[in-house]
Amino acid sequence: MLVRGDAPAENLLVTGARVLDPAAGVDARIDVRIDDGVIAQLGTSLDRNGHRVVDGTGLVLAPAFVDPHVHLRVPGREDEETIASGTAAAAAGGYCAIVAMPNTDPVVDSAAVLGALVEDARREAAIPVGFLAAITKGQAGAELTEMAELADAGALGFSDDGRPVVASGLMRRALQYGAVTGRKLALHCEEPTLTRGAHMHEGAVSAELGFGGYPSVGESVMVERDLALAAYEERPLHLLHLSARESVAALRAARERGVDATAEVTPHHLCLTDEAVRSLDSNVKMNPPLRSREERAALIDALRDGTIGAVATDHAPHARHEKEVPFEEAPFGVTGLETAFAALYTHLVEPGVLPLETILERMSAGAARTFGLDEPRIAVGSRANLVLLDLDATWRVREDGFRSRSTNSWLLGDTLRGKVRATIADGTTVFSELRA
Ligand SMILES: [Zn+2]
Ligand SMILES: [Zn+2]
Repeated sequence: MLVRGDAPAENLLVTGARVLDPAAGVDARIDVRIDDGVIAQLGTSLDRNGHRVVDGTGLVLAPAFVDPHVHLRVPGREDEETIASGTAAAAAGGYCAIVAMPNTDPVVDSAAVLGALVEDARREAAIPVGFLAAITKGQAGAELTEMAELADAGALGFSDDGRPVVASGLMRRALQYGAVTGRKLALHCEEPTLTRGAHMHEGAVSAELGFGGYPSVGESVMVERDLALAAYEERPLHLLHLSARESVAALRAARERGVDATAEVTPHHLCLTDEAVRSLDSNVKMNPPLRSREERAALIDALRDGTIGAVATDHAPHARHEKEVPFEEAPFGVTGLETAFAALYTHLVEPGVLPLETILERMSAGAARTFGLDEPRIAVGSRANLVLLDLDATWRVREDGFRSRSTNSWLLGDTLRGKVRATIADGTTVFSELRA
Protein backbone atom coordinates (compact mmCIF):
# COMPACT_ATOMS: atom_id res chain seq x y z
CA MET A 1 0.00 0.00 0.00
CA LEU A 2 1.30 3.42 -1.04
CA VAL A 3 -0.14 6.66 0.36
CA ARG A 4 0.23 10.31 -0.55
CA GLY A 5 -1.32 13.66 0.22
CA ASP A 6 -4.29 14.88 -1.81
CA ALA A 7 -3.39 16.35 -5.17
CA PRO A 8 -5.51 16.83 -8.28
CA ALA A 9 -4.72 14.68 -11.32
CA GLU A 10 -3.60 16.88 -14.18
CA ASN A 11 -4.20 17.35 -17.89
CA LEU A 12 -0.82 17.84 -19.59
CA LEU A 13 0.78 17.72 -23.01
CA VAL A 14 4.54 17.12 -22.94
CA THR A 15 5.96 18.11 -26.30
CA GLY A 16 9.28 17.73 -28.09
CA ALA A 17 11.10 15.44 -25.63
CA ARG A 18 13.02 12.29 -26.45
CA VAL A 19 10.67 9.74 -24.90
CA LEU A 20 12.75 6.88 -23.53
CA ASP A 21 11.24 3.86 -21.75
CA PRO A 22 13.67 0.96 -22.01
CA ALA A 23 11.25 -1.54 -20.43
CA ALA A 24 8.51 -0.66 -22.95
CA GLY A 25 10.96 -0.47 -25.85
CA VAL A 26 10.15 3.19 -26.57
CA ASP A 27 12.81 5.63 -27.83
CA ALA A 28 11.32 8.35 -30.02
CA ARG A 29 10.79 12.08 -30.27
CA ILE A 30 7.04 12.16 -29.68
CA ASP A 31 4.46 14.04 -27.64
CA VAL A 32 2.77 12.55 -24.59
CA ARG A 33 -0.78 13.59 -23.68
CA ILE A 34 -1.97 13.04 -20.13
CA ASP A 35 -5.71 13.14 -19.41
CA ASP A 36 -6.73 13.27 -15.77
CA GLY A 37 -3.37 11.84 -14.63
CA VAL A 38 -3.34 8.97 -17.13
CA ILE A 39 -1.23 8.68 -20.29
CA ALA A 40 -3.88 8.97 -23.03
CA GLN A 41 -1.96 9.39 -26.27
CA LEU A 42 1.56 9.12 -27.70
CA GLY A 43 2.37 10.58 -31.10
CA THR A 44 3.58 13.50 -33.16
CA SER A 45 1.90 16.91 -33.24
CA LEU A 46 -0.83 15.96 -30.80
CA ASP A 47 -3.76 18.29 -30.31
CA ARG A 48 -3.37 20.49 -27.27
CA ASN A 49 -7.00 19.94 -26.28
CA GLY A 50 -6.90 22.71 -23.69
CA HIS A 51 -4.15 20.91 -21.73
CA ARG A 52 -1.23 22.67 -20.09
CA VAL A 53 1.80 22.32 -22.37
CA VAL A 54 5.17 21.29 -20.96
CA ASP A 55 7.94 22.01 -23.46
CA GLY A 56 10.31 19.05 -23.32
CA THR A 57 12.54 20.18 -26.18
CA GLY A 58 16.11 19.09 -25.54
CA LEU A 59 15.06 16.88 -22.61
CA VAL A 60 14.59 13.14 -22.07
CA LEU A 61 11.18 12.00 -20.80
CA ALA A 62 11.54 8.70 -18.93
CA PRO A 63 9.54 6.63 -16.42
CA ALA A 64 10.01 8.23 -13.00
CA PHE A 65 12.18 6.52 -10.38
CA VAL A 66 11.23 4.29 -7.46
CA ASP A 67 13.39 4.02 -4.33
CA PRO A 68 12.90 0.84 -2.28
CA HIS A 69 15.15 2.05 0.57
CA VAL A 70 14.75 5.47 2.24
CA HIS A 71 15.07 6.59 5.86
CA LEU A 72 12.46 9.26 6.58
CA ARG A 73 13.49 9.47 10.27
CA VAL A 74 9.92 9.79 11.54
CA PRO A 75 8.74 9.25 14.14
CA GLY A 76 11.49 10.56 16.39
CA ARG A 77 14.00 12.64 14.43
CA GLU A 78 11.93 15.31 12.73
CA ASP A 79 15.00 17.58 12.89
CA GLU A 80 16.69 15.27 10.34
CA GLU A 81 13.79 14.52 7.98
CA THR A 82 9.99 14.35 7.83
CA ILE A 83 7.56 12.73 5.46
CA ALA A 84 7.02 16.16 3.87
CA SER A 85 10.72 17.00 3.45
CA GLY A 86 11.77 13.48 2.45
CA THR A 87 9.09 13.13 -0.21
CA ALA A 88 9.85 16.66 -1.49
CA ALA A 89 13.51 15.63 -1.80
CA ALA A 90 12.43 12.48 -3.62
CA ALA A 91 10.27 14.50 -6.03
CA ALA A 92 13.26 16.75 -6.79
CA GLY A 93 15.30 13.62 -7.46
CA GLY A 94 12.84 12.33 -10.06
CA TYR A 95 11.08 9.77 -7.86
CA CYS A 96 7.39 8.86 -8.10
CA ALA A 97 7.41 6.42 -5.17
CA ILE A 98 9.62 5.58 -2.20
CA VAL A 99 9.66 2.97 0.54
CA ALA A 100 10.51 4.03 4.10
CA MET A 101 12.49 1.96 6.61
CA PRO A 102 11.14 1.24 10.11
CA ASN A 103 14.28 1.93 12.21
CA THR A 104 12.72 5.00 13.79
CA ASP A 105 12.05 6.05 17.38
CA PRO A 106 9.79 4.33 18.26
CA VAL A 107 10.45 1.52 15.82
CA VAL A 108 7.61 0.75 13.40
CA ASP A 109 6.83 -2.55 15.08
CA SER A 110 3.12 -2.18 15.90
CA ALA A 111 -0.04 -1.44 13.95
CA ALA A 112 -0.49 1.72 16.05
CA VAL A 113 2.86 3.26 15.03
CA LEU A 114 2.35 2.22 11.42
CA GLY A 115 -1.21 3.55 11.37
CA ALA A 116 -0.07 6.96 12.62
CA LEU A 117 2.59 7.12 9.90
CA VAL A 118 0.09 6.23 7.21
CA GLU A 119 -2.21 9.00 8.46
CA ASP A 120 0.66 11.51 8.39
CA ALA A 121 1.57 10.43 4.86
CA ARG A 122 -2.02 10.99 3.72
CA ARG A 123 -1.63 14.59 4.83
CA GLU A 124 1.93 15.49 3.90
CA ALA A 125 3.49 13.06 1.42
CA ALA A 126 4.35 14.88 -1.83
CA ILE A 127 4.67 11.54 -3.65
CA PRO A 128 3.34 8.06 -2.86
CA VAL A 129 5.21 6.44 0.00
CA GLY A 130 5.10 2.91 1.37
CA PHE A 131 6.25 1.71 4.78
CA LEU A 132 8.13 -1.36 5.88
CA ALA A 133 7.59 -2.67 9.39
CA ALA A 134 10.17 -4.27 11.65
CA ILE A 135 10.87 -8.00 11.61
CA THR A 136 11.56 -8.09 15.36
CA LYS A 137 10.08 -6.08 18.22
CA GLY A 138 12.13 -2.94 18.78
CA GLN A 139 14.48 -4.37 16.14
CA ALA A 140 16.06 -6.07 19.12
CA GLY A 141 16.43 -9.38 17.30
CA ALA A 142 14.68 -11.41 19.99
CA GLU A 143 10.99 -11.68 19.20
CA LEU A 144 9.05 -11.43 15.94
CA THR A 145 6.56 -8.60 15.49
CA GLU A 146 2.86 -9.30 14.85
CA MET A 147 3.57 -9.62 11.15
CA ALA A 148 0.06 -10.54 9.99
CA GLU A 149 -1.42 -7.57 11.85
CA LEU A 150 1.23 -5.23 10.44
CA ALA A 151 0.60 -6.51 6.93
CA ASP A 152 -3.13 -5.81 7.39
CA ALA A 153 -2.27 -2.31 8.63
CA GLY A 154 -0.48 -1.63 5.34
CA ALA A 155 3.15 -2.76 5.76
CA LEU A 156 4.65 -3.27 2.31
CA GLY A 157 7.24 -5.69 3.67
CA PHE A 158 9.47 -6.26 6.69
CA SER A 159 12.98 -5.17 7.60
CA ASP A 160 15.23 -4.68 10.62
CA ASP A 161 17.47 -2.46 8.45
CA GLY A 162 20.26 -0.84 10.38
CA ARG A 163 20.72 -4.19 12.06
CA PRO A 164 20.89 -7.80 10.95
CA VAL A 165 18.62 -10.54 12.28
CA VAL A 166 21.41 -12.48 13.92
CA ALA A 167 19.57 -15.55 15.20
CA SER A 168 19.12 -18.04 12.35
CA GLY A 169 16.10 -19.70 13.91
CA LEU A 170 14.31 -16.36 14.17
CA MET A 171 15.17 -15.53 10.57
CA ARG A 172 13.78 -18.88 9.51
CA ARG A 173 10.50 -18.23 11.32
CA ALA A 174 10.28 -14.72 9.83
CA LEU A 175 10.60 -16.28 6.37
CA GLN A 176 7.91 -18.85 7.21
CA TYR A 177 5.55 -16.03 8.24
CA GLY A 178 5.81 -14.70 4.70
CA ALA A 179 3.43 -17.48 3.68
CA VAL A 180 0.83 -15.85 5.95
CA THR A 181 1.53 -12.18 5.22
CA GLY A 182 2.42 -12.47 1.55
CA ARG A 183 5.12 -9.85 2.22
CA LYS A 184 8.83 -10.00 1.55
CA LEU A 185 11.70 -9.58 4.00
CA ALA A 186 14.34 -6.96 3.17
CA LEU A 187 17.60 -7.85 4.84
CA HIS A 188 20.55 -5.87 6.11
CA CYS A 189 23.20 -8.59 5.97
CA GLU A 190 25.95 -8.16 8.53
CA GLU A 191 27.63 -10.59 10.93
CA PRO A 192 28.16 -8.29 13.91
CA THR A 193 30.98 -10.24 15.51
CA LEU A 194 32.97 -9.68 12.28
CA THR A 195 32.22 -5.96 12.07
CA ARG A 196 32.52 -4.78 15.68
CA GLY A 197 34.47 -1.54 15.93
CA ALA A 198 34.57 -1.14 12.15
CA HIS A 199 34.63 2.28 10.50
CA MET A 200 35.42 1.33 6.90
CA HIS A 201 36.19 -1.54 4.50
CA GLU A 202 38.95 -3.84 5.73
CA GLY A 203 41.82 -3.60 3.28
CA ALA A 204 44.98 -1.71 2.42
CA VAL A 205 43.41 1.70 3.02
CA SER A 206 42.05 0.83 6.47
CA ALA A 207 45.45 -0.60 7.42
CA GLU A 208 47.14 2.60 6.30
CA LEU A 209 44.67 4.89 8.06
CA GLY A 210 44.56 2.72 11.17
CA PHE A 211 40.75 2.37 11.16
CA GLY A 212 38.91 -0.73 12.31
CA GLY A 213 37.92 -2.73 9.24
CA TYR A 214 34.59 -4.21 8.12
CA PRO A 215 35.63 -7.16 5.97
CA SER A 216 33.61 -8.12 2.89
CA VAL A 217 32.98 -11.50 4.48
CA GLY A 218 31.22 -9.69 7.34
CA GLU A 219 28.44 -9.08 4.81
CA SER A 220 28.68 -12.10 2.52
CA VAL A 221 28.55 -14.73 5.25
CA MET A 222 25.09 -13.45 6.21
CA VAL A 223 24.02 -13.13 2.57
CA GLU A 224 24.90 -16.80 2.15
CA ARG A 225 23.03 -17.79 5.30
CA ASP A 226 19.91 -15.86 4.33
CA LEU A 227 19.92 -17.23 0.79
CA ALA A 228 20.30 -20.75 2.19
CA LEU A 229 17.33 -20.23 4.53
CA ALA A 230 15.23 -18.68 1.76
CA ALA A 231 16.03 -21.64 -0.49
CA TYR A 232 15.15 -24.11 2.26
CA GLU A 233 11.87 -22.38 3.09
CA GLU A 234 11.14 -21.57 -0.56
CA ARG A 235 10.37 -17.97 0.35
CA PRO A 236 11.38 -14.76 -1.46
CA LEU A 237 13.73 -12.20 0.04
CA HIS A 238 15.36 -8.89 -0.83
CA LEU A 239 19.00 -8.12 -0.06
CA LEU A 240 19.62 -4.50 0.90
CA HIS A 241 22.62 -2.39 -0.22
CA LEU A 242 24.98 -5.13 -1.44
CA SER A 243 28.62 -4.09 -1.34
CA ALA A 244 30.78 -7.22 -1.49
CA ARG A 245 31.93 -9.29 -4.45
CA GLU A 246 31.27 -12.54 -2.58
CA SER A 247 27.69 -11.42 -1.84
CA VAL A 248 27.11 -10.85 -5.54
CA ALA A 249 28.55 -14.27 -6.39
CA ALA A 250 26.30 -15.95 -3.80
CA LEU A 251 23.24 -14.10 -5.11
CA ARG A 252 24.00 -15.01 -8.71
CA ALA A 253 24.42 -18.68 -7.83
CA ALA A 254 21.24 -18.73 -5.74
CA ARG A 255 19.19 -17.10 -8.51
CA GLU A 256 20.52 -19.68 -10.97
CA ARG A 257 19.28 -22.40 -8.60
CA GLY A 258 15.84 -20.76 -8.65
CA VAL A 259 15.89 -18.90 -5.33
CA ASP A 260 13.49 -15.93 -5.50
CA ALA A 261 15.98 -13.30 -4.36
CA THR A 262 16.16 -9.66 -5.41
CA ALA A 263 18.85 -7.15 -4.50
CA GLU A 264 19.73 -3.49 -4.64
CA VAL A 265 22.89 -1.40 -4.82
CA THR A 266 23.41 2.24 -3.89
CA PRO A 267 24.81 5.04 -6.06
CA HIS A 268 27.69 5.53 -3.60
CA HIS A 269 28.79 1.89 -3.82
CA LEU A 270 28.57 2.09 -7.62
CA CYS A 271 30.55 5.34 -7.88
CA LEU A 272 33.16 5.29 -5.10
CA THR A 273 35.74 3.00 -3.51
CA ASP A 274 37.39 2.96 -0.09
CA GLU A 275 40.05 5.31 -1.52
CA ALA A 276 37.49 8.08 -0.87
CA VAL A 277 37.90 7.56 2.89
CA ARG A 278 41.40 9.09 2.68
CA SER A 279 39.58 12.46 2.71
CA LEU A 280 38.43 11.62 6.28
CA ASP A 281 35.12 13.20 5.26
CA SER A 282 32.40 11.71 7.48
CA ASN A 283 30.06 11.88 4.47
CA VAL A 284 31.78 8.84 2.99
CA LYS A 285 31.13 6.79 6.11
CA MET A 286 28.31 4.34 5.53
CA ASN A 287 27.19 0.82 6.41
CA PRO A 288 28.08 -1.29 4.50
CA PRO A 289 31.26 0.64 3.73
CA LEU A 290 32.71 1.71 0.40
CA ARG A 291 34.82 -1.18 -0.85
CA SER A 292 37.68 -1.97 -3.22
CA ARG A 293 37.92 -1.33 -6.97
CA GLU A 294 37.31 -5.01 -7.69
CA GLU A 295 34.16 -5.06 -5.59
CA ARG A 296 32.86 -1.89 -7.19
CA ALA A 297 33.42 -3.55 -10.59
CA ALA A 298 31.52 -6.65 -9.45
CA LEU A 299 28.55 -4.49 -8.37
CA ILE A 300 28.52 -2.70 -11.73
CA ASP A 301 28.62 -6.05 -13.57
CA ALA A 302 25.74 -7.36 -11.45
CA LEU A 303 23.65 -4.27 -12.17
CA ARG A 304 24.45 -4.59 -15.87
CA ASP A 305 23.36 -8.24 -16.14
CA GLY A 306 20.35 -7.78 -13.84
CA THR A 307 21.56 -9.98 -11.00
CA ILE A 308 21.06 -6.80 -8.97
CA GLY A 309 17.78 -5.45 -10.32
CA ALA A 310 17.44 -2.18 -8.41
CA VAL A 311 19.29 0.99 -7.52
CA ALA A 312 18.34 2.20 -4.02
CA THR A 313 19.70 5.31 -2.35
CA ASP A 314 19.61 4.18 1.30
CA HIS A 315 18.96 7.91 1.86
CA ALA A 316 20.06 8.32 5.49
CA PRO A 317 19.78 11.88 6.78
CA HIS A 318 21.89 12.90 9.77
CA ALA A 319 22.00 16.16 11.71
CA ARG A 320 25.01 18.33 10.96
CA HIS A 321 26.34 18.26 14.51
CA GLU A 322 26.35 14.46 14.41
CA LYS A 323 28.38 14.28 11.21
CA GLU A 324 30.75 17.19 12.01
CA VAL A 325 32.93 15.06 14.26
CA PRO A 326 36.07 12.97 13.70
CA PHE A 327 35.54 10.12 11.23
CA GLU A 328 35.61 7.40 13.90
CA GLU A 329 32.85 9.11 15.90
CA ALA A 330 30.50 9.89 13.02
CA PRO A 331 27.33 7.85 12.44
CA PHE A 332 26.96 5.74 9.28
CA GLY A 333 24.88 6.99 6.36
CA VAL A 334 24.52 9.59 3.63
CA THR A 335 21.66 11.30 1.83
CA GLY A 336 21.01 10.43 -1.78
CA LEU A 337 17.53 11.13 -3.13
CA GLU A 338 18.35 14.44 -4.81
CA THR A 339 21.63 13.38 -6.40
CA ALA A 340 21.14 9.71 -7.37
CA PHE A 341 20.43 10.14 -11.07
CA ALA A 342 23.08 12.81 -11.65
CA ALA A 343 25.70 10.84 -9.71
CA LEU A 344 25.09 7.72 -11.79
CA TYR A 345 24.89 9.68 -15.04
CA THR A 346 28.15 11.48 -14.27
CA HIS A 347 30.13 8.53 -12.93
CA LEU A 348 28.77 5.65 -15.03
CA VAL A 349 26.87 6.78 -18.13
CA GLU A 350 29.06 9.65 -19.38
CA PRO A 351 32.31 7.62 -19.06
CA GLY A 352 30.63 4.75 -20.96
CA VAL A 353 30.60 2.24 -18.08
CA LEU A 354 26.82 1.58 -18.27
CA PRO A 355 24.21 2.65 -20.83
CA LEU A 356 21.61 5.25 -19.86
CA GLU A 357 18.88 2.67 -20.53
CA THR A 358 20.27 0.33 -17.86
CA ILE A 359 20.38 3.07 -15.22
CA LEU A 360 16.83 4.18 -16.08
CA GLU A 361 15.47 0.62 -15.89
CA ARG A 362 17.18 -0.22 -12.59
CA MET A 363 16.04 3.07 -11.01
CA SER A 364 12.44 2.62 -12.16
CA ALA A 365 10.86 -0.69 -13.26
CA GLY A 366 13.58 -2.81 -11.65
CA ALA A 367 13.29 -0.94 -8.38
CA ALA A 368 9.47 -1.12 -8.44
CA ARG A 369 9.57 -4.92 -8.76
CA THR A 370 11.39 -5.19 -5.40
CA PHE A 371 8.12 -4.93 -3.46
CA GLY A 372 5.73 -5.67 -6.30
CA LEU A 373 4.82 -2.03 -6.96
CA ASP A 374 3.35 -0.93 -10.31
CA GLU A 375 6.20 -0.38 -12.77
CA PRO A 376 6.20 3.17 -14.15
CA ARG A 377 5.56 2.89 -17.90
CA ILE A 378 5.25 5.27 -20.80
CA ALA A 379 2.29 3.56 -22.42
CA VAL A 380 -1.31 4.51 -23.14
CA GLY A 381 -3.47 3.66 -20.14
CA SER A 382 -0.63 3.91 -17.61
CA ARG A 383 -0.80 6.32 -14.70
CA ALA A 384 1.56 9.26 -15.41
CA ASN A 385 4.79 8.64 -13.47
CA LEU A 386 7.36 10.55 -15.46
CA VAL A 387 10.66 12.37 -15.11
CA LEU A 388 12.08 15.03 -17.44
CA LEU A 389 15.88 14.88 -17.53
CA ASP A 390 18.30 17.45 -18.89
CA LEU A 391 21.37 15.41 -19.81
CA ASP A 392 23.36 18.48 -20.90
CA ALA A 393 22.93 20.40 -17.65
CA THR A 394 25.92 20.85 -15.36
CA TRP A 395 25.33 21.77 -11.74
CA ARG A 396 27.13 22.03 -8.45
CA VAL A 397 25.89 20.17 -5.37
CA ARG A 398 25.47 22.83 -2.70
CA GLU A 399 24.45 22.62 0.90
CA ASP A 400 21.70 25.20 0.36
CA GLY A 401 20.29 23.33 -2.63
CA PHE A 402 18.57 20.44 -0.84
CA ARG A 403 14.92 19.93 -0.03
CA SER A 404 15.97 17.30 2.47
CA ARG A 405 16.39 18.60 6.02
CA SER A 406 19.87 17.09 6.10
CA THR A 407 22.89 17.84 3.96
CA ASN A 408 25.17 14.87 4.63
CA SER A 409 25.78 14.19 0.95
CA TRP A 410 28.99 12.57 -0.31
CA LEU A 411 28.73 14.87 -3.35
CA LEU A 412 28.86 18.27 -1.59
CA GLY A 413 30.88 20.68 -3.72
CA ASP A 414 31.02 18.30 -6.71
CA THR A 415 29.95 19.29 -10.19
CA LEU A 416 27.55 16.83 -11.76
CA ARG A 417 26.13 16.30 -15.23
CA GLY A 418 22.45 15.55 -15.75
CA LYS A 419 19.60 17.25 -13.92
CA VAL A 420 16.02 16.41 -13.09
CA ARG A 421 13.89 19.23 -14.52
CA ALA A 422 10.41 17.96 -13.64
CA THR A 423 8.72 15.01 -11.99
CA ILE A 424 5.16 13.79 -12.42
CA ALA A 425 4.08 11.31 -9.75
CA ASP A 426 0.75 9.51 -9.81
CA GLY A 427 -0.66 11.97 -12.35
CA THR A 428 0.47 15.19 -10.63
CA THR A 429 3.43 17.50 -11.20
CA VAL A 430 5.36 17.27 -7.93
CA PHE A 431 8.54 19.07 -8.98
CA SER A 432 9.36 21.48 -11.78
CA GLU A 433 12.17 23.80 -12.71
CA LEU A 434 10.63 24.53 -16.09
CA ARG A 435 9.11 27.84 -17.10
CA ALA A 436 5.32 27.71 -17.08
ZN1 LIG B 1 21.26 -1.25 6.21
ZN1 LIG C 1 19.24 1.73 5.30
